[in-house]
Amino acid sequence: MSILNLGLQGVALKRLELIENIANIQDMLNNRTERLVLKDKKFKCHRSASEETITKLFEIKKCNNPTCPYCKPIRLPSQEFHDLSFLSDPIPSQENTDHYAAFQSIYGTETTEEYRPTYMQSQANAEPIPKSILVVGKIRGYIDCEDCKKRRLHQFFPDDHYLKEVVFVRTRINCDSPIEVLYYSSCKSGNYPICYYCGKSEGLVVPPESLKQRFKQIYPLCEMCIDNRKGFHTKGEIKTNGHASKRRKT
Ligand SMILES: [Zn+2]
Ligand SMILES: [Zn+2]
Ligand SMILES: [Zn+2]
Repeated sequence: MSILNLGLQGVALKRLELIENIANIQDMLNNRTERLVLKDKKFKCHRSASEETITKLFEIKKCNNPTCPYCKPIRLPSQEFHDLSFLSDPIPSQENTDHYAAFQSIYGTETTEEYRPTYMQSQANAEPIPKSILVVGKIRGYIDCEDCKKRRLHQFFPDDHYLKEVVFVRTRINCDSPIEVLYYSSCKSGNYPICYYCGKSEGLVVPPESLKQRFKQIYPLCEMCIDNRKGFHTKGEIKTNGHASKRRKT
C-alpha cells in the first residue's frame, strides 16, 4: 500500500474532471502506477471490467423446464446451453495452496463452498458444539471464572480427555467476552441479575423508560461499565406501525 501512496504523491483529482473525462485520468494514474517497482517487478495495470463482463458474472442458468413460471424459454443453441456450467466456488490452487486456482482450471469441475472466504471466517468463529446442546433447558449450573470472576463455562478438559466428546464447553469466549445471553433467559435458581459486560451484581443501573419502550430485552448494566463508556445491550426492537423504529444518530 505504501508503494501505491508513493505513486500518488502530489496527485489531486478534481471531481468534475473525473466525471467529465475519466479516461484521461485513468491514463494518468496508470502511467504513474506503472512506474512503480516492487521486488524488481514493475507494476502492471489491468483494464477494469466492462459493464458487459460484470453482467456476465451474475448470470443465472434457466431451468429449461417448459412449464416453469419463472424462466423464459432458452435461446442458446441447446448444445451450448448444456455445456454451460455454473460459476465454480473458489478453491485453492493445487500448485500453490496459498492462492486460489485460476478460473479456467476449475470451470466445469465440481467444487465445494468450504474455501469461500466468508464461509471460512464464519467457521473459524463458530463453536464446535452441536446447536442442540447450547440451549436454555440444558443449563445445569454456572461456574465463576477464576480470573475475571464472570459466571460461565470455560474449558474443562484437556484435548485428549474422553469427556471432551461428552461434555461440551464454549471455547470461543474469553475473559473479555460479555456474559452469555442464555444466562439471562435461564430461570434456574441461583440466577440473579449481573452486569452484561463485567458480570458484577452490585451497582446495577435501572434502564431508562424510553429504552424499555423500544426493546423487549435490556441486559443489566452496572455503574462501573457506564463509566467505561458501555451502554445497555439490547435485543428485540419493538416494532411500531409494522416498521422497526429507525435508529437515529445523535
Ligand atoms: Zn425455471
Ligand atoms: Zn474469565
Ligand atoms: Zn459492569
